[in-house]
Amino acid sequence: MKKIIPYGKQDITQADIDAVTEVLRSDYLTQGPRIEEFENEFAAYVGSSYAVAVSNGTAALHLSVMALGLKPGDKVITTPITFAASANCVRYSGAEVVFADIDPDTYLLDINSVKKLLQSAPKGTYKGVIPVDFAGRAVDLEGLRELANEYDLWIIEDACHAPGASFIDSKEEKQLCGNGKFADLTVFSFHPVKHIACGEGGMITTNNAKLFESLMKLRTHGITKNEPDFVNDVGLASGITEGGKGYPGWYMEMHELGYNYRLTDMQCALGLSQLRRAKTGVARRREIAKVYSEAFDDKDFVLGHSKYSKHHAYHLYVIEVNNRLGLYNYLRERGVFAQIHYFPCHLMPYYQGLGYKEGDYPISEKYYERCISLPMYPTLSEEDQEFVINSIIEYFE
Ligand SMILES: *Cc1c(COP(=O)(O)O)cnc(C)c1O
Repeated sequence: MKKIIPYGKQDITQADIDAVTEVLRSDYLTQGPRIEEFENEFAAYVGSSYAVAVSNGTAALHLSVMALGLKPGDKVITTPITFAASANCVRYSGAEVVFADIDPDTYLLDINSVKKLLQSAPKGTYKGVIPVDFAGRAVDLEGLRELANEYDLWIIEDACHAPGASFIDSKEEKQLCGNGKFADLTVFSFHPVKHIACGEGGMITTNNAKLFESLMKLRTHGITKNEPDFVNDVGLASGITEGGKGYPGWYMEMHELGYNYRLTDMQCALGLSQLRRAKTGVARRREIAKVYSEAFDDKDFVLGHSKYSKHHAYHLYVIEVNNRLGLYNYLRERGVFAQIHYFPCHLMPYYQGLGYKEGDYPISEKYYERCISLPMYPTLSEEDQEFVINSIIEYFE
């Protein structure tokens, strides 16, 4: 059978398998102790005060817009070069998605196009902005926070590509994605193609205690077991008019319309085990990126690429070329399954149905014509990477 080199791949070790097996033999398959452990260790990894584990990255986005009170008619800004979920969460709340074009050098939401949108509408029109740390490059949230404060916006950072990434702020300090200093909420995904695999899984990090409590409730039907928050009186809760001494042990209250977006203990055990190797994984991804960068820096057929940065988390390694379709097919024939990230979100038929059309975001559309994501995962061998690089050079020469 021909060897396949995919664009991304999970890495499962014996330690991962043992961690999951241990949960299977324990008393709790879900709602047990692994969840809080995973949350605490993940918060420590990104440097935030709180973390809430949820069933996937999309659920993380959905609960985030809910916790921030997004309502029908509100408007939220995001980038067209992202996975559809970054925009879809806004639609779940019946609010309107407004795209802003990308910066052609970083492929990230261009702060100047965001500024233009904000300046051209009455203050209060936009409620929030969802920047995406596309490919694993961290958005400069310091600048975006200033703009957001000026226009009274919240920020949900979609860091699904970027656990372990950072940017350098104006005081030369390193700011890790999800540390809660600039974004109100940051979301992560644990889908197997991402840095940390849980099968399915997501996390929301924040430094805001109120948002944390709200998310914890929304994750589990809007129900709380926290006695100080109870609204009904003890008599009603106990089922006898005069009531007992306090609320009965079984009692809980539903305060708002939440969901079942919980993550299981089996998935959290896998996530915990993977998290312990996350730093090594990011370091290996940076090594791979450096090799690609050096191979492509002086090649004329490469019109743009994910330039090396030691702060980038390299979920993806993107190059821009002419004749992308030809290269894609040539690589596929040779077993190299490169991938395209992303078809611009505003051109998805669903968003076209909401009024977007070709030509609306020319930089994103130009990027889409030329982008291709090369194999990038910690277990990619040096020989396989060399084969990928040589295949690309061969195709163009
Ligand atoms: C993967 C991803 C999501 C959604 O995560 P799921 O866990 O698959 O629901 C959201 N945004 C971006 C940018 C992603 O890459």
